[in-house]
Amino acid sequence: MRLTFLGGAREVGRSAMLVNDDLLVDFGVKTANPTLYPVSSPSPDAVVVSHGHLDHVGALPTLMDGFPPVYGTPPTRELSRRLGEDSLKLGTRRFQREDLLRLSQAWEDTGYEETFVPGITDYEVTLTDAGHIPGSASVLVEGGDQDGEADGGESVLYTGDINTTPTRLLDPTVSPPPADTVVVESTYFDHEHTDRGELERRFVDSVRETLYEGGDVIVPVFAIGRTQEILMVLEAHDVPCYVDGMGVDVLRTLRHHPEYVRDPDALKRAANHAREVKPSRRDDVLGQGRAIVTTSGMLSGGPAMKYIKDIYDHPGNKICLTGYQVEGTPGRTALDEGRAEIDGTVLPLSAQVEMHDFSAHADGPGLREYLREAVDAGAERVLAVHGDEHNTTALAEWARDELGVEAGAPHVGEEVQI
Ligand SMILES: [Zn+2]
Repeated sequence: MRLTFLGGAREVGRSAMLVNDDLLVDFGVKTANPTLYPVSSPSPDAVVVSHGHLDHVGALPTLMDGFPPVYGTPPTRELSRRLGEDSLKLGTRRFQREDLLRLSQAWEDTGYEETFVPGITDYEVTLTDAGHIPGSASVLVEGGDQDGEADGGESVLYTGDINTTPTRLLDPTVSPPPADTVVVESTYFDHEHTDRGELERRFVDSVRETLYEGGDVIVPVFAIGRTQEILMVLEAHDVPCYVDGMGVDVLRTLRHHPEYVRDPDALKRAANHAREVKPSRRDDVLGQGRAIVTTSGMLSGGPAMKYIKDIYDHPGNKICLTGYQVEGTPGRTALDEGRAEIDGTVLPLSAQVEMHDFSAHADGPGLREYLREAVDAGAERVLAVHGDEHNTTALAEWARDELGVEAGAPHVGEEVQI
């Protein structure tokens, strides 16, 4: 089996892995200016998708000329379509509306733990619950008769993005199924997350304190997963809140797929607890003693900056970021430098800026435990992807030294024979 990494190697973004020449796993974009695509555009016989985040599905519509069947879970289908429509609106795309339509037609819904043969290929593929966002999957690929040789014994587990810790929204990833090679994400390999209960307490206390003192709290969130998780946290602690932005639509979508969340009743309670903000009413929700949970998570779009424009100049107000802030984003600038662009001018933020990282990725201890299990289940080779240069190479080195397996951190464009 030959694996070619077309993106998402020694970087986070544009994840895409080609198995031999005929099966593609993920085809994402990297959000940058301009948007980056995988380094080549293959013509696979079938495509399997791990989860509905832009860095895993964003380039899928560009593959639709060849009309390959696309396999993924029902939530991933809906999120992919939603992200595609969003890209069309923003005009940052290399595809047309017809391509999105074709993608919908080509999609084959697949549940967890159901083994299937994708399209005209001769692989057996199984999706397993990855615990990262609703519908997220790790992809197990077995067999495949390359060049007619009888070498169909290999198997590869592509973890996609995994979370090994339970959250309010989701159960953690299932144990790795047996595979010869594990292609593993390494986003947070060098990091240890704060205990979830402690993280929640600090966040809730901080929000409450500001609201109690009459200030406003803006909680920037990613639309997919994070909005819903934060609403569930606030509901559980009975903190009043508004919700605004694309996360509201995603919440509706997820409520149609109760089997893909941990506690559908708790999600429903969170949806009822949060008051939705109509775009025409955004001026009316400040000073109401309720936190405002809104996209985008890195302040690079959505209504978040609209609110921040109204609250930035008073130290009694607060901005609670809830996830990793990529270098160069307005969120990162706000966090590191205490500044933001307001009406075209970069101004100092008097409002307090805090980080409460409700990460949906496994941390270092989580990844190590997961890989130990994978090796116990028979894995002989580990390839680290979906992380920066430091994390991918550190994970590979650890796997070589501590697990005694073959390990590497492929570069973008690299082929690995397994
Ligand atoms: Zn993801």
